[in-house]
Amino acid sequence: MKQLTILSGKGGTGKTSITASFAVLAKNAVVADCDVDAPDLHMLLHPEIMETRKFSVSKVAVIDNKKCTHCGLCRENCHFDAITTDLTVEVSACEGCGLCERVCPASAVTMVSRVSGESYVSKTAYGFMSHAMLYPGESNSGKLVTLVRQNARLLAEKENCNIVIIDGSPGIGCPVIASITGADAALVVTEPTLSGIHDLERVLKLLDHFNVVSFVCINMYDINTENTNQLLSFCKENGVEIVGLLPFDPEVTRALVNGKTVVEYAPEGGVAKEIERMWKNLSGSL
Ligand code: SF4
Ligand code: SF4
Repeated sequence: MKQLTILSGKGGTGKTSITASFAVLAKNAVVADCDVDAPDLHMLLHPEIMETRKFSVSKVAVIDNKKCTHCGLCRENCHFDAITTDLTVEVSACEGCGLCERVCPASAVTMVSRVSGESYVSKTAYGFMSHAMLYPGESNSGKLVTLVRQNARLLAEKENCNIVIIDGSPGIGCPVIASITGADAALVVTEPTLSGIHDLERVLKLLDHFNVVSFVCINMYDINTENTNQLLSFCKENGVEIVGLLPFDPEVTRALVNGKTVVEYAPEGGVAKEIERMWKNLSGSL
């Protein structure tokens, strides 16, 4: 089973539209939405959730008012200012270090599991999907991404699927690292803007560091020929293959508004045909 991660240096480059189109075109794949902070693949693939699990990897302090003697030691020792003057724990500020529990002379503090999000296993019209949602303000997105990938691999093994298509989160932070570790290849979707060139360099460096084979797709390549030429030269100099050049096409936005992938909405259009060609090329390379 192969794993392909789709990345971009920042949001809004068309990464999710391309991933969803690949999910439609692939005949035997599991798709994983690893953008757990702001998942949006479900808006195009309309999954039917089969299983929901609470995601909990950290703890939060709880003070038992009946036991508390109001000595204030927990508040004085908390390095995160998570305990208020009236001795209440601010859940969003608590880092779960457990120091308050250790210093409390009245054994009034207990560390309890903290639910930070949910993971889902779903079915779409095109195959199975693993996805998740991190609750607002919660951390540990990297661990949730690892869980989403683990669920996707298990599904692929169980259903005899030969590829896992992973929608990574934007940027180069912890959740991105979790979405590329152990992947066979990555497709970086970029656009011909100055920040696009800079973002591409950063993502390619990261992929190189983790020994993941990189491919590049330039979305809306025709909106700035000069910048596209810079991207082409950069990739050539660095030995990175460009597998797709997608033209600007308003059909892509119309497809999104209608909750469809562009390969379903406008299958005969130039963008759909180019995505299809890119998928054949990429899946052949894997
Ligand atoms: S667990 Fe740590 S961060 Fe949370 S309230 Fe206690 S001392 Fe503060
Ligand atoms: S250390 Fe324990 S007893 Fe003292 S204020 Fe905190 S919870 Fe209450």
